[in-house]
Amino acid sequence: MQKLTCFLFVLFCTVTLSTAQNLKSPSDFLGYDIGTQFSRHHQVVDYFKHVEREMPNNVKLEQYGETNERRPLYLAYISSAENLNNIEAIRTNHLKNAGLIEGSPSDTSIAVVWLSYNVHGNEASSTEASMLTIYKLLTENQEWLENTLVIIDPCINPDGRDRYVNWFNETASSPYDIDPQASEHNEPWPGGRPNHYLFDLNRDWAWATQVESTSRLKAYNKWMPHIHVDFHEQGINEPYYFAPAAEPFHEIITDWQRDFQTQIGKNHAKYFDKEGWLFFTRERFDLFYPSYGDTYPTYMGAIGMTYEQGGHGRAGLGILNDEGHVLTLVERLTHHTTTGLSTVEISSQNAETLNSEFSKFFDNSNLKYKSYVLQGNADKIESLKVLLDKHEIKYGNASIGKVSGYDYKTGKQGSLNASSKDLVVSSNQPKGKMVKVLFEPDAKLSDSLTYDITAWSIPYAYGLNAIASTSNVNTLNSIEGKMPTMLPAAYGYVSQWKSLKDGQFLAALLKADIRVRFTEKPFTSNGKNFDRGSLIITKGDNAHLSDFLGTLNSVVRTENRILDIINSGFSTTTPDIGSPDIKLINPQKIAILSGEGTSSLSYGALWHFFEQQLKYPVTSIHTDDFGRTNLDKYNVLILPSGYYGSVLNDNNMKKLNEWVQSGGKVIAIDRALSAFSGKEGFSLEPKKDEEDAEEKDSKQHLISYAEREREYANDLITGAIFKTKVDNTHPMAFGYDDHYFTLKLGSSAYGLLDGGYNVAHLDNTKVYSGFAGQRALKKLDDTLVFGEERKGSGSFIYFVDDVMFRSFWENGKLFLVNSIFFVNNNAFEL
Ligand SMILES: [Zn+2]
Repeated sequence: MQKLTCFLFVLFCTVTLSTAQNLKSPSDFLGYDIGTQFSRHHQVVDYFKHVEREMPNNVKLEQYGETNERRPLYLAYISSAENLNNIEAIRTNHLKNAGLIEGSPSDTSIAVVWLSYNVHGNEASSTEASMLTIYKLLTENQEWLENTLVIIDPCINPDGRDRYVNWFNETASSPYDIDPQASEHNEPWPGGRPNHYLFDLNRDWAWATQVESTSRLKAYNKWMPHIHVDFHEQGINEPYYFAPAAEPFHEIITDWQRDFQTQIGKNHAKYFDKEGWLFFTRERFDLFYPSYGDTYPTYMGAIGMTYEQGGHGRAGLGILNDEGHVLTLVERLTHHTTTGLSTVEISSQNAETLNSEFSKFFDNSNLKYKSYVLQGNADKIESLKVLLDKHEIKYGNASIGKVSGYDYKTGKQGSLNASSKDLVVSSNQPKGKMVKVLFEPDAKLSDSLTYDITAWSIPYAYGLNAIASTSNVNTLNSIEGKMPTMLPAAYGYVSQWKSLKDGQFLAALLKADIRVRFTEKPFTSNGKNFDRGSLIITKGDNAHLSDFLGTLNSVVRTENRILDIINSGFSTTTPDIGSPDIKLINPQKIAILSGEGTSSLSYGALWHFFEQQLKYPVTSIHTDDFGRTNLDKYNVLILPSGYYGSVLNDNNMKKLNEWVQSGGKVIAIDRALSAFSGKEGFSLEPKKDEEDAEEKDSKQHLISYAEREREYANDLITGAIFKTKVDNTHPMAFGYDDHYFTLKLGSSAYGLLDGGYNVAHLDNTKVYSGFAGQRALKKLDDTLVFGEERKGSGSFIYFVDDVMFRSFWENGKLFLVNSIFFVNNNAFEL
């Protein structure tokens, strides 16, 4: 027996040695010195597969998803052979330690470190660094792996990375040109930063609207690491940035999380000092908005960090920066490799403490609000549940009774009568801190100078009434919703219009060639009231279909809708079904402008909305081609936020106006409004500053240099929530209440329309959540939020606030659907 063990041991050692000997460095494997070329994503994947093949005892690869362009998403698990052999036990112990699964952990000595590379596709040095990092971990730093599990995601955003790398490879000179004006340093629209749908994946962690994020969150929640690093790049003149982060810190961040960021930073500094490299800490990159690769992990108990190397899409393989330094890809990836390894080192040295402090983070018995109770439209509650499921946050149905607390609708103390249809999300659960961050009415801001929006509170985003209660609200087990039943033959059918799901239903009906009407006035039929916007489908309208009832039933089933039956066109209260107030919906042909001049984020959010959410076809037209585009092929033209100065020259503006006069609809979003505001023939006007400009100037002379930045904050709105007044008798607002909470992203303000409909406007400037500077606020009183201005037979429709921003403001999306299908429905049929 002993002999056999000895023999196996010798055999084991030989195998380990020989496999390690076959392990190639990235340079040997790729056939060029790492950093002298950009590696395409498949080459990176091939290298990681090579590492797994050569060191199967220490490395395990797992495909966790696939991008829109069908590139695989991988994680590499790296640790000692013993740990990797026990990986499932390590995982369950780790989750038990956090209270995320039942039971007490049998071992809490392993640190779990997750390194995420290249979330922004054109910050391309980090994926190169991921290859060198795994190689060095396995060949030079094996001892850290004894008590550390390292999880490497070599590329979070392969579609964006390859967009950048392919463009660079086809553009760059050989040898590379260090002149910053060379074309290889100037990416064309939209650049490689975002994913396929042009979303910034480093703003998508909390909303998880993109396939990369949803797939990653599944793996992330399975592991909930102690440490998470998100590797980035910034401008070519900036030194390296690492933790500790800048203020504001969200108030739930613990002292320990702050402390350990400092310890990590000091460990990095040791290596940077030795080489004489420049770096900075504690400035610029704060920890507040929850949807980043540093904050999200932080609110899930990790030490979440952003590391920033100078470089970015401008740097290429080498560039001469303003300080006269030639910044190379080799240098950039060397820095990222250094901080990656240093992170693993310091985590390994503190594995026990990481475990004990991690466990404390998940005790949430002391949070002020214990329960958030949400009430409203069942579809909206369903889509919120989908979001909570992505984060594995628990919820339940309310039991009947009165609940008191902070009332989101009024911004004061109040109450609601809860029923089993209402949703309760408790903060007394392991992920309670994330619950607080996402649901609390107004996140406490320690500093107004922040990197991003300061408001996102979920009840407002989902359009639900809510109470935040300081006591525990009882819950019941989930109750199943009603399922659609087979519709019998009838005169017609009605579907209420309340949510985006209703919009999706309409899109599906139109695609199935079913003719649909909507009502501009409320009516009663069969004793049931139907609001404005309700959809009416009649047998008489659909005689062109060979199997109308079968087709309708199939759409109703797929879209999961409950319809009401009407047996007669004679309504209990008018309008009757044949009334001119009940209008046929023309299937709309929609075009969207994209390309230079448009905001790629705004365009991308619209593209994703039509393709993946509404599932209704749109045609994207490049701004370069607008001059020769035949607009008569479309009913609706959407202008994403952007600068249209050169696209809408005199000729093109004339063309656009003539098309609208003859019945076209323009939908302009956010900054696109400036193409029309103050122009002849438009009643859209920018709101004048109340304060006398001269007076403001004279005050500003007295502001000290150091205080300039702070003074500037007075003019800022950095994402704040306001309550607007809504004219819900206008088709653009069908399905909405008489108020709507809007997310204002900036301080631009437009006066009320004289010659148009002010569908939603601000009549007071109470801030419900987020930061708004005093001067910016003054300007907002009596301003337009959504409106319509008619020209001839067509319309200009204005969205001052972008309802598609990052695609998370669920309750705003129906305004866009309404604008397309309901507003000015007399428009021509093609
Ligand atoms: Zn970045």
